[in-house]
Amino acid sequence: MRVIGVIGPKKSGKTTLICDILKEINKNNINIAIIKHSYHDVNIDKEGTDSYKFKKYANTSILSDGNRTTFFYNKMDLSEILSKLDSDLVIIEGFKEQLRKLNIPKIVMINEEEGNELIDSHTLMVIKNMEYNIDDVVKNILEKSIVPTYNLNCGHCGYNCKEFVERVVKGDLSWDQCVISEGLEVIVNGKTIPLNPFVSNIVKNTIIGLLSSLKGVDNPESLTIKINKTL
Ligand code: SF4
Repeated sequence: MRVIGVIGPKKSGKTTLICDILKEINKNNINIAIIKHSYHDVNIDKEGTDSYKFKKYANTSILSDGNRTTFFYNKMDLSEILSKLDSDLVIIEGFKEQLRKLNIPKIVMINEEEGNELIDSHTLMVIKNMEYNIDDVVKNILEKSIVPTYNLNCGHCGYNCKEFVERVVKGDLSWDQCVISEGLEVIVNGKTIPLNPFVSNIVKNTIIGLLSSLKGVDNPESLTIKINKTL
């Protein structure tokens, strides 16, 4: 999974840009998730509704009708939200402080005078007054979105995570030089554990080799194994 942020002041065109990106990227059959930060209460589960009552006592409640399924979780930070997703690409609108904290590269949208203070060393593109070429935007995203590094700072790429992302944004390094891009993510007690490429390949090949003999496991493209203590 790779991630990218889109930030900017109000009415700078973030949602319009994201919709244009979705239209363009969808042509490549890429599975995309959007995370949007809202400054207002999301009023789907209003006081008095069943989901509101359930949410008071359960960490997760799920509402499903004939067309949609909605999950209600308690408040989460951005890294917890990301750990729940398995899309190919995640576009995050807003969350400017958490993007900075997690070293997630971003597109910054600015108006005439507003938004310049948002530009930093993780900014891969600045769009002013909504003037952009969507092909350039998508090319940048496909080249420079990264796997979330969660500030692991394991050093396997030769840098810390912040420096690594700065170099990817500049075009000096490629996103797939981070060990997490090896395609194996080990999460222990909610925390991602970095594995070097050697260990990652051994574990990955062993698990795939063992499971491939099982009925129903044909050429797996993604695989999840969870080891949980039960109540
Ligand atoms: S290899 Fe990845 S997780 Fe490790 S320091 Fe580099 S960017 Fe961070």
